[in-house]
Amino acid sequence: MPRKVTAASRKLAPAVTTRVQEPKPRTPGNLDSARFAGIIDEHINDARGKIDTVLADIREVTAAAKDTPADDEHDPEGTTVSVERANEVSMLAALEASLIELLEARVRLDDGAYGICERCGEPIPEARLEIRPEARFCVACAAAGRRR
Ligand SMILES: [Zn+2]
Repeated sequence: MPRKVTAASRKLAPAVTTRVQEPKPRTPGNLDSARFAGIIDEHINDARGKIDTVLADIREVTAAAKDTPADDEHDPEGTTVSVERANEVSMLAALEASLIELLEARVRLDDGAYGICERCGEPIPEARLEIRPEARFCVACAAAGRRR
């Protein structure tokens, strides 16, 4: 009868892999956190402004649709209204997603884990962070991610 391998006997095996704990990505020391806090906040305000605009548009389109009770199936106007509204709603979702990314970037900055590529661990060039302050990856890794 084969000997049962118990959890206890497995534990006796010598630990050959002493895993070095992966260091938490650190914001590069030369990165001006205060400046990037300003840039991120600016983008956050911008995203919030755009969200308000789209919300106002959705209300307007919805109100307009109420004024002209439309049968979507037979009234071409009605179809236009619902397509327009669907576009606005998907735009709103995209804006909200980017706002969340910006807020997360702001948290990373406060945590001291900002500006490091989450894939290769290299610092993300500041020029990229200025344009996309929410970036989690360097250009090469972001491109590699998109190809997957
Ligand atoms: Zn990278």
